[in-house]
Amino acid sequence: MESKLITISKKVCLLGDFAVGKTSLVRRFVYNRFDDQYLSTIGVKVSRKTVVVPRENDIIELTMMLWDLAGSQEFDNVRASYLRGAAGAVLVCDLGRGKTIDGLPVYVEELYKINPSAHITIAANKVDLIAPPQLEIAQIEQMATRLNLPFFLTSAKLDAGVEDLFRQLGKLLAG
Ligand code: GDP
Ligand code: MG
Repeated sequence: MESKLITISKKVCLLGDFAVGKTSLVRRFVYNRFDDQYLSTIGVKVSRKTVVVPRENDIIELTMMLWDLAGSQEFDNVRASYLRGAAGAVLVCDLGRGKTIDGLPVYVEELYKINPSAHITIAANKVDLIAPPQLEIAQIEQMATRLNLPFFLTSAKLDAGVEDLFRQLGKLLAG
């Protein structure tokens, strides 16, 4: 059988508390850059990146439209329209702030309410900040198990785990 090239495009939302590194992960994945300065994004920024994913005999060219919301995240009405049409999400927490791990289930619930079949990967970000014995890793492991979602230890700063995180999501999205 001949293999086909199939192009698809999917909306992906970045989710997670303030300053966990959502914008930094997108910046690292799409532009291979990191910025130490904190830029509070206003509104929504959409970046796109195409990954190639094999699927059985075919080759899927998947364009991820990465939606990064800032500023008014706390307003429910904004968030509902932000999530509408999302096929997937990167759920981000900051390993240096344990509270951001506890906050993850709320985002998952909100997304599943709008799209019950959404694909999600967790970015346990800022792994560069935690020191042995890295108890935070057990905490995120436990949370990922509870939510039944794959997680990746990432550092947008040091470029660790970022490619793997988005690739895995790409695979899930390409089905
Ligand atoms: P957002 O509010 O979730 O979009 O967070 P930002 O991407 O703006 O990042 C918030 C702050 O954390 C910025 O000062 C970033 O430079 C910093 N940051 C983001 N990712 C990392 C990381 O992997 N390691 C470290 N050490 N700092 C990071
Ligand atoms: Mg941001």
